[in-house]
Amino acid sequence: MAQLLPPITAPDANDAAFKKTSVLIVDDESRIRHVCTKMLNQEGYDVAQAPNAEAGLAMVAQSHYDIILLDLLMPGMSGLEALGKIRSEHPDTVVIVITGYATLDHAVDAMKQGAFDFLSKPFSPQDLRLVVTKAIEYIRTLQDISNEKSRMRTMINHLSGGVMATDIHKKVALANHAFMNLVDYRGPSPIGEPVQQLVAQPQILSLIDQALAIAPDQFGELTDEIIIKPQGQGEERIIGVRCVPFRDRLDRNLGTITVLHDITTIKRMDQIKSDFVAMVAHEIRGPLNSVMMQQKVVLDELAGPLTEKQREILGRASEKINALVNLSSELLDLTKMESGLANMEKQRLALGPILSDQALFHSAKAQAKGLTLELAPVAQLPPVLANRMNMEEVLSNLITNAINYTPEGGRVSISADTQGDYVRIRVADTGFGIAADELDHIFTRFYRVKNEKTRYVIGTGLGLPIVKSIMEAHNGRVEVQSEEGKGSTFSVFLPAAK
Ligand code: ADP
Repeated sequence: MAQLLPPITAPDANDAAFKKTSVLIVDDESRIRHVCTKMLNQEGYDVAQAPNAEAGLAMVAQSHYDIILLDLLMPGMSGLEALGKIRSEHPDTVVIVITGYATLDHAVDAMKQGAFDFLSKPFSPQDLRLVVTKAIEYIRTLQDISNEKSRMRTMINHLSGGVMATDIHKKVALANHAFMNLVDYRGPSPIGEPVQQLVAQPQILSLIDQALAIAPDQFGELTDEIIIKPQGQGEERIIGVRCVPFRDRLDRNLGTITVLHDITTIKRMDQIKSDFVAMVAHEIRGPLNSVMMQQKVVLDELAGPLTEKQREILGRASEKINALVNLSSELLDLTKMESGLANMEKQRLALGPILSDQALFHSAKAQAKGLTLELAPVAQLPPVLANRMNMEEVLSNLITNAINYTPEGGRVSISADTQGDYVRIRVADTGFGIAADELDHIFTRFYRVKNEKTRYVIGTGLGLPIVKSIMEAHNGRVEVQSEEGKGSTFSVFLPAAK
């Protein structure tokens, strides 16, 4: 049976949110106390009175008052002295001072000491109502801000991700427990301390520096993945880091927010999946090769003569097997790339000769398709620090794509130049082009654009992801510009070797 929820009860009279606003009137003139009390009672406030400052302070020490109406000129302790004590001991209480005509200077002094407002005698009920209403609005705003702060603090402290804010001087303004755990910090509260005291990882510190350097009119989110090995027994963790600057109304940088996520499990799962894919790709390649060999034996009529029909069927089967062999090779390349790119061998390479070799190698295929393949004269290029096989693979994938996705009569042009600290290689074609909404996806594994023109091109959707992985492992990048029906230009950028 469904459990009944407890009935919703009326708010408790002691509930702070529903408590009446309490006002204390401290004035030696009983007439003023009386008139104010009457009026404020009518408005629904809780009103108390004290005939002098000493009595008022004693009452304030006993219970909290939201507002105090405080006469400045009283026998015994002055209102100004009492104001000082109230402000230092009860900063949440709002004080409105009451002054005579002759004591306007005192009112100014009182405001300087933290009084919220003043009423000069004689004042009308309307004056009193106005100033008290203003004080209540102020109290509510303060309460709202403090509630909002408390809500934020509770939320941030209970997030499973790590959150840390610094000010513009890189001092820690906020850091939740998750953050301190993730960066393996075990010291005292880091609030107000330089961020280096909390964060030892140079990659995070560098992101904070970069975030603070982002121009005010630009938005930037900086990301990185780092490995943190806790001191002692703890296991190594892989942490995703995101860092953004935050700004004031005028877009001036005020500091940074850094968010950490433990992505160890996701990374491990990804590794297991990649290993599995690599294993399957590797295992099917052997049998596929053997099927191909046997088909070749039959096609070459070493096992007896074939009819035209049989040859046609076997020919089609061979094409499919070929596509499967390609798929398994590309899958293997990709997984090898992902696991081994970080420690592959790099050397100082001149890209010019590799470009010529690749252009020559692909020219036969281009010619067979009725395409012009041209390599623009390569100017003196600085060398790059790269893996030769990887570079050949990048170029081969881009040129093969350009040939595959360009119809007969078209042109594929390869060129290279220097762009600042980078060497840029461009492979441009006059082919089908890629629609704007597809451009974001073509670097995703297995993604292939499907339309009337591309459906006849055999592919795996792995060529561009391989290009992207290789470029990232070389601290470079790949870009594409394309217009449907006009053609595409793929550009790869590699940092020039120092
Ligand atoms: P594949 O070519 O094996 O399908 P890729 O990862 O190399 O896989 O390319 C992904 C998709 O991007 C292709 O399916 C194709 O639709 C599109 N594409 C790649 N290069 C070009 C190009 N030069 N011109 C037009 N489309 C291209």
